[in-house]
Amino acid sequence: MTRIGRTGLALGCLLSLAAALPPDLPAQTDPYLQQRLQMVEEQIQRRGVKRPSVVDAMKQVPRHLFMPEGLREEAYSDGPQPIGDGQTISQPYIVALMTELLGLMGDERVLEIGTGSGYQAAVLSRLAKEVYTIEIRAELGRRARRTLEELGYDNIHYRIGDGYAGWSEAAPFDAILVTAAPPEVPRALVEQLKVGGKMVVPVGRYFQDLQVITRTEGGFRTEFAGGVRFVPMIKNKD
Ligand code: SAH
Repeated sequence: MTRIGRTGLALGCLLSLAAALPPDLPAQTDPYLQQRLQMVEEQIQRRGVKRPSVVDAMKQVPRHLFMPEGLREEAYSDGPQPIGDGQTISQPYIVALMTELLGLMGDERVLEIGTGSGYQAAVLSRLAKEVYTIEIRAELGRRARRTLEELGYDNIHYRIGDGYAGWSEAAPFDAILVTAAPPEVPRALVEQLKVGGKMVVPVGRYFQDLQVITRTEGGFRTEFAGGVRFVPMIKNKD
């Protein structure tokens, strides 16, 4: 096993805590554009995220629209933010880092576990052909879907359910991104990867290791990309 990427504790989803390009807000009607560009430069590029397609997606997706009204002023600050139901939208840097680790080229089918606010799904939607996203909390999943559809993202498939089972009807996937932390690598999920496909997943109970698991002809290869902290991936609602 090798260690890759950056070290240090990055905050994902803290406790307590494209095919056709969608028509995001034009610059003149987006009061947060400057803040967003500054966020990308200072929090994301300066910390080493380089892939141009990822940087562009982070500049384009209007993060504030994935947050509850009233909390939008915090949308571009350097941390996770509450989105209701005890859950959080991940820190911008961790969204960019996990997305970069997937190495998407544009023609992939990607599975996301933990739709949450829908923000990560929007970023993936710009970088892959199809996104499949599963959320266990029905209210959050429905709200995320409304937000994404209103913004015009049309290559995302939604499911309310338990991500531990994956999405077998749509498998195998080129990439899987898990945005809640399972105590160990979920077997059913790695089995839904194509050979050559990658899964990025924070594994552990309180603190987690960000693992990058590649399916090979003969099995799986695991690399480590640093320490992170996410909300737990739960088995049943409650
Ligand atoms: N990707 C989200 C942030 C995720 S926070 C975003 O961009 O906003 C983690 C999410 O995982 C929470 O919404 C939580 O409800 C969900 N979750 C936890 N356990 C799950 C499971 N077993 N299956 C699917 N979703 C789960």
